[in-house]
Amino acid sequence: MPESYNPKGRDYPLSNLNDTLRLVRVRCRYCQRSRNYNPSDLIQIFGDVDVDSLADRMKCESGGRAHGRLDVEAFAPTGREAVGLRIRRLVAIKINRVPVWKEDPA
Ligand SMILES: [Zn+2]
Repeated sequence: MPESYNPKGRDYPLSNLNDTLRLVRVRCRYCQRSRNYNPSDLIQIFGDVDVDSLADRMKCESGGRAHGRLDVEAFAPTGREAVGLRIRRLVAIKINRVPVWKEDPA
């Protein structure tokens, strides 16, 4: 089956980047700061989603949603760029435990 033409660049799952050794650069315009992520780490959190959709799924670690939508791009570091490139690795996924209370019926 031929691959369908996709002008909007949708259907570009994170797993696709893994195969081509690309990384994801996420930039907060407010903080003027970008961070690099391994696609495999992002898949653990968001699933194998479309790369573009991360702009809405992720939020700035310093300012949260208040810092607005993040710039997300996939890139393949060149040899020189790869030296000293800092990649933000996933250490753990913390689950928030939220207590839910209710009065005991009298
Ligand atoms: Zn920010």
